[in-house]
Amino acid sequence: MSGMFDLCGKTALLTGAGRGIGLVLARGLAEQGARVVINDLAAEVADAAAETLRKEGLDARAAAFDVTDAAAVEDAVARIEKDVSPVDILFNNAGIHRRAPLVDMPEEAWRAVIDTNLTSAFLVGRTVARRMIPRKSGKIVNTCSINCERPRPEIANYAAAKGGLVLLTRAMCVEWAKYDIQVNGIAPGYILTEMTLPLSRDPERNAWIESITPARRWGKPEDLIGAAIYLSSDASNFVNGHVLFVDGGMRYAL
Ligand code: NAP
Repeated sequence: MSGMFDLCGKTALLTGAGRGIGLVLARGLAEQGARVVINDLAAEVADAAAETLRKEGLDARAAAFDVTDAAAVEDAVARIEKDVSPVDILFNNAGIHRRAPLVDMPEEAWRAVIDTNLTSAFLVGRTVARRMIPRKSGKIVNTCSINCERPRPEIANYAAAKGGLVLLTRAMCVEWAKYDIQVNGIAPGYILTEMTLPLSRDPERNAWIESITPARRWGKPEDLIGAAIYLSSDASNFVNGHVLFVDGGMRYAL
């Protein structure tokens, strides 16, 4: 493998990659030559995902930890850097939904979503960047969302977290670009995963998503691989603080 999209010799840590978008992106980066470290909350989920990729001939390890727990993040990143390799690429991908109308939203649902979708990127990003800065090299990609600028009913917590993540992406860029670290975001549209099952199984919402998306279909996790490779590779070395929408054009139709 050669060229500006080559990831051979690079190690990528992807959070929330035991399933869904994260697992597909891990496979995509590994097929481009990267060694991938798969994080998930549940050890058995992370282990099974890494094992699946290894059986496909890819270089994959597991690292279970809670991305909202600062001490666990510090321990895990230190262990990965010692036992596996320095982290060249970080994907802050872990995320959850807790849907509720704003007036009825429990405080727990607000805090859980902000913690998992936003604070986690600060914690893991800060921990990894402390090691990337002396090396003067690194790629950080934050998984944002179409909802970062387009809220929908019942997801105020999620929209606020993803909107914050866009600004965190730009703030990381402003502080760390001088160390040759590129920090960018990917904003997926509606992608078929377990997270979106409640929407795809609801005929009315499913029809709305298909009709409002100019591409007239749901996205697949595989649709995000090209953007992920681009933002992880030398091809994007002067792209910084950018959020790349991968949404079948939905951003301009909502
Ligand atoms: P998913 O299938 O629900 O996967 C989310 C992953 O995050 C799971 O593996 C989950 O682990 C993990 N996770 C949750 N909390 C965690 C924690 N505290 N520590 C470590 N891992 C944790 O979701 P997805 O659809 O692939 O979404 C991935 C990312 O894309 C999220 O940030 C989401 O907001 C974003 N996104 C998704 C869509 C979409 O349409 N699907 C659209 C825009 C943006 P467990 O399995 O152990 O719970």
